[in-house]
Amino acid sequence: MTDMTRRSLVGLGMALPLLGQMSWAAPRSPGTPAATRPVRINFNESPWGPSSAARQAMREGIEQCGRYPYDAQYRLIDQFAAQNALQADQVQVCCGSKLALQHAVMAFTGASSLVVPEPSYEAPVEAALSRGTEVHRVALDRHHAHDIQAMLAADQAPGLIYLCNPNNPTGTLTPRRDIERLLANKAKGSVVLVDEAYIHFSDAQSCIDLIKEHPELLVLQTFSKLYGMAGARLGLAIGQASLLQRLEVYDGENVAAAPTLLGALASLHDRQLVPERKAENARLRDATIAWLNQRGWRCTASQTNCFMIDLRGPGKPVVERLAKEGVLIGRVWPSWPNWVRVSVGNEQEMLRFREAFAKVTVS
Ligand code: PLP
Repeated sequence: MTDMTRRSLVGLGMALPLLGQMSWAAPRSPGTPAATRPVRINFNESPWGPSSAARQAMREGIEQCGRYPYDAQYRLIDQFAAQNALQADQVQVCCGSKLALQHAVMAFTGASSLVVPEPSYEAPVEAALSRGTEVHRVALDRHHAHDIQAMLAADQAPGLIYLCNPNNPTGTLTPRRDIERLLANKAKGSVVLVDEAYIHFSDAQSCIDLIKEHPELLVLQTFSKLYGMAGARLGLAIGQASLLQRLEVYDGENVAAAPTLLGALASLHDRQLVPERKAENARLRDATIAWLNQRGWRCTASQTNCFMIDLRGPGKPVVERLAKEGVLIGRVWPSWPNWVRVSVGNEQEMLRFREAFAKVTVS
């Protein structure tokens, strides 16, 4: 960001709004003794954490914490760019992709609206509402994919159209040809954001390659999910340099933490990590869904590390009963009150989930 843009923003009095505690964020809790620790399959986190190579690199990163780690940040950007046939100025690092999402809402909505699928990840909607931006929520179609036609019809010239692929909370995919159709038919000036936080778990092709032809496409990825680094906070924004510059205004050329950057770099170098974790996640997810289906419970066709169960009645009491059994599952979306979201944990956690679920429900 130039001094000029920085000064003009301050001159315009554009203070960033403080985004308060979200209703669904993790509550503060007193320390829980290990023996009574609940199964936490509620936030789509990784049961595995950082890979062993990432842990080693993160320990080395501690030694470098006396200095601003711009060099590590440039190395990470160069590595990701090389692996994805991008230029270095088409990749931006941020402190978790949620921050980039919030910045995108600030940068691209202005006086115009935000279009989102429903249900989906709430962060962009909450960022928009905190600034009085109009939000159009468009129901998923009957396959639980984004209803692209309805999203295009929601507003003739929205500021930002948010897609989440695979979608949180359903875990379902929207076909690539539909995303291409949206890009081809959207109004000029509307930015399309494809949130690929969960793409590594799925068979879907990333939309990163589309940024070359589409100057108004922004893709977000994160190290929080498959890479198991949610606690280290690292996201990537990918787009044409001119688009990323509009985001950069809010980030002020920030640099991430050295252990985080080195852990992420080690993860990118490990070519086995994605296929191995993807296969293990799919095995555990599909076995759990099959077990539920056999007992008459319908689930979403998930391609990621979470899925939803149709309880055919209010979901919240079941979430509460499971919590009493020491199994924390995800929240209920108000537009889908009978469905609950379950994240995929490790083998032991999914067994404890089955036991508790069988106990608190009558199939
Ligand atoms: N996007 C989606 C769809 C998510 O589900 C999440 C977190 O759960 C995020 C973005 C934010 O992830 P992070 O800020 O950890 O990169």
